Amino acid sequence: MAAPGKMLVRSKSGLRTVSLEEDVSSPFLLDEPPWIPDNECSSCIQCQKKFDWSCRRHHCRRCGRIFCSSCCDNSAPLPRMSFVDPVRQCADCVLKTKRENDFFEKYVKTLINGATFHVKRMVNNQETLDVSVCKMSADQRYITFEGGNGLEPINLTRLEGVQIITSGADAQGNTVASGISLKFSNRQGDLQKLQLSAPETTNKRPCLLWIAAMQKAVKLLYETRGVSATTPVTP
Ligand SMILES: [Zn+2]
Ligand SMILES: [Zn+2]
Repeated sequence: MAAPGKMLVRSKSGLRTVSLEEDVSSPFLLDEPPWIPDNECSSCIQCQKKFDWSCRRHHCRRCGRIFCSSCCDNSAPLPRMSFVDPVRQCADCVLKTKRENDFFEKYVKTLINGATFHVKRMVNNQETLDVSVCKMSADQRYITFEGGNGLEPINLTRLEGVQIITSGADAQGNTVASGISLKFSNRQGDLQKLQLSAPETTNKRPCLLWIAAMQKAVKLLYETRGVSATTPVTP
């Protein structure tokens, strides 16, 4: 059974759960690739082995290219394409998929649990500071602000850019993140900027984990549709 608002769809690559409405699906989802037609490929793209009755063609479900069975023998869950079961992937794709699955298993939880930040923004040309619990919504579509005074949720498909705010270096010389700045367009289409900083007074760890998870999220969104993640800045 599919979850409410979802339906099961059978594609040539396998069974998928998809949202009934296209515009409410997670921005982290990828479309299924078009499959290279069999007649356009006479040998394995990886090892060049010729296809015949003993060497069959196999499509990688992630990139749609054609391989022999030994070059495309990895099977892994591919939640970004909503497959219910693990699907066949080539070596390049399965590496990418496994890295991303790490994001879905660990970092999404961190983002949804949220962390308390000082949120700085400009309201009527005046800098305003709120204390707010910043969270990703369970459907992975928004960043929400609990307790933020009139802070609207950010639609992740409208995120335009992200900058990590640093506060010097630690004893080993590694730059220390202290916040994250999010640039996005609001419902009216106006470009806005929020600066989230870890409060000085509390344990910063949940904030730093949240920022790290957000960076992973932005990387995925960047690969999917071109959000820019820029180099660290010090305020
Ligand atoms: Zn091969
Ligand atoms: Zn592939």
